[in-house]
Amino acid sequence: MEYKHGRLFSSTLNMLSVTRSDTEKTNCLIIDSCGFDTTTLIDMLAQNHCDFEKCSFDQASAKLVQCDFQLIFLHSCFTDTNALSELHFLRQQYPLIPVIMFDHQLTTERIDEFMFWRASDCVITSKLTNEVFKRVIRYNLMVNQYNTELTRLNQLDPLTGMTNRQQFYKQLSQKLKLIGKGEASSQLALISVDLDGFRRFNNINGYSAGDIIVKEMSKRLAALIPGQLSRLGNDEFVLLQETPADDNLTSQTIELCNNILHSLTEPYIYHELEVILPCSIGVALVPEHSCEIDTLVHQATQARIKAKETSSCSYVIFDQEQHRSDESQTNLEPELISAIRRNEFELFYQPRINISSGKIIGAEGLIRWRHPEKGLIYPDTFIPTAERTGMIVPIGYWVIQQAGDDMQRLKACGLEIDRLSINLSFRQFQDSYLCQTIQRLIKKHSIDTSILEFELTESALFNNELHVREGIEGLHKLGINFSLDDFGTGYSSFSLLQTLPISSLKIDRSFVSGVNQNPDDAEIVKAIIRLAHSLNKEVIAEGVETSQQLNFLDRLGCHQAQGYLYSKPVSYDDFKTLLESGQRVTAESAANQ
Ligand code: C2E
Ligand code: CA
Ligand code: CA
Repeated sequence: MEYKHGRLFSSTLNMLSVTRSDTEKTNCLIIDSCGFDTTTLIDMLAQNHCDFEKCSFDQASAKLVQCDFQLIFLHSCFTDTNALSELHFLRQQYPLIPVIMFDHQLTTERIDEFMFWRASDCVITSKLTNEVFKRVIRYNLMVNQYNTELTRLNQLDPLTGMTNRQQFYKQLSQKLKLIGKGEASSQLALISVDLDGFRRFNNINGYSAGDIIVKEMSKRLAALIPGQLSRLGNDEFVLLQETPADDNLTSQTIELCNNILHSLTEPYIYHELEVILPCSIGVALVPEHSCEIDTLVHQATQARIKAKETSSCSYVIFDQEQHRSDESQTNLEPELISAIRRNEFELFYQPRINISSGKIIGAEGLIRWRHPEKGLIYPDTFIPTAERTGMIVPIGYWVIQQAGDDMQRLKACGLEIDRLSINLSFRQFQDSYLCQTIQRLIKKHSIDTSILEFELTESALFNNELHVREGIEGLHKLGINFSLDDFGTGYSSFSLLQTLPISSLKIDRSFVSGVNQNPDDAEIVKAIIRLAHSLNKEVIAEGVETSQQLNFLDRLGCHQAQGYLYSKPVSYDDFKTLLESGQRVTAESAANQ
């Protein structure tokens, strides 16, 4: 969507409007360092609606800074070569203002010389008629207006009319200079926004469809923060939020980010269809994070990438500490690649309990990395790296394979479970061989697909919706069930819930942990359970740690629970022991413990 200079210029000419009313006065500056008699020129200016100021060349710069002049009249000083350097200086410093050379007499050679040095016009005052002067003024005013308009349009993105990257850098660096020097006591939030899946949307529907989305996106953003918005390219926008130094910038920025998320996740209308494209937001703060433009833009972009990796429809404020730990995570990268080959992964199991009977009915498989030097590493530390590098694809296959083998071993001991859930990252859907590979693994490891359930997060559904839908449907045909993990933390669409083969909802543990203290959490949990009942889906509460929480869930008719109250995730051997013990935990027995 970049524009070529030629294209911009021709489309710009169509957009130019430089009409000027006859009553509007023209501001002229007469520069004369030789004490020349300028009466004729001044009379003519007066007759042509022109205001003027007169000064020597030494005073000209100060005058030009103080006031907006549309035309400059520069005296040629007879044969003086100074006039050429003065002309050169004016053209360099004030390229938008036409410079008209004037003198009582001018030879053709002298006129040629001035025109070569980019004078806009030359007038010989001794021969000047009002008719000619009128034309000179009119023509040069038009040149001035075209120049000004062209410069303005050059600072704008032709698609959205927002300021472009160059202009944004110019405006921001001016602000940063003032803040850095302590001359401005304000703070800034640099907010970087883009859509998730925009490239894919463009590839499928074409660039003009993409343009419609970008235009709509810019309108929605402009409505939230007028005047401080720029388009850096494609679907990438930046907003500048400015507050006085003593205001709480972070809380105002969080509010704005939430408003952006709400506004941009509203469906876009394309060919009478509703298209939902989630977005990601990254924020860097001035002066807290930096006062250096490239660093700031980089920080906001990093934060946006982080938001995209974590969950779609989210914002991340840059965090120096987190950034350092992310960098140390990238140190894990080379080792992660060889971890499968070195057999360093282990699959732990956390029991899933039927709340009314208190019996273990299944388990969630949770991966661990037994690092030879660093010890046991939890998934939150290495899954983001695995997702970023694409290593999640082979790791994901390892998990399915291991789970299949473990289920076979349990079966051989006469122990069986009804549900085995496995986490599937949205990145795994980017593997075009996902269905085929899983089908092969199912066959090779004799996996009973009716007990197999893949846990997806809500953001996985939002990322490349079509693509994921195809994957889910393909896997469902193999007999695999699906559940929505961390339910309540993302953006779910009811139509997705109804049309995709999702059989259960897992209530996020952040809500479960608050049910007995926080009325909002209790209401959310109630609403999710009610929703699951009315959609005829199973509902599972994660992170159940106390008998009070279990009691609350039991009363509302929540089907299953998982959490430390029953057991932490344990190794295969420990899980087998738990199954063998046949231990039951009900709300009553837990309360009596
Ligand atoms: P998750 O899917 O939400 O997994 C549940 C996490 O909650 C597990 O953390 C579990 O140990 C923890 N948990 C369970 N019960 C309780 C409780 O009562 N209290 C508290 N405080 N925590 C509880 P874990 O094993 O560290 O896994 C973290 C995340 O890593 C998982 O979140 C999941 O998103 C991801 N993950 C784990 N294994 C895999 C995998 O094989 N593939 C993929 N793609 N992601 C995985
Ligand atoms: Ca899970
Ligand atoms: Ca979860």
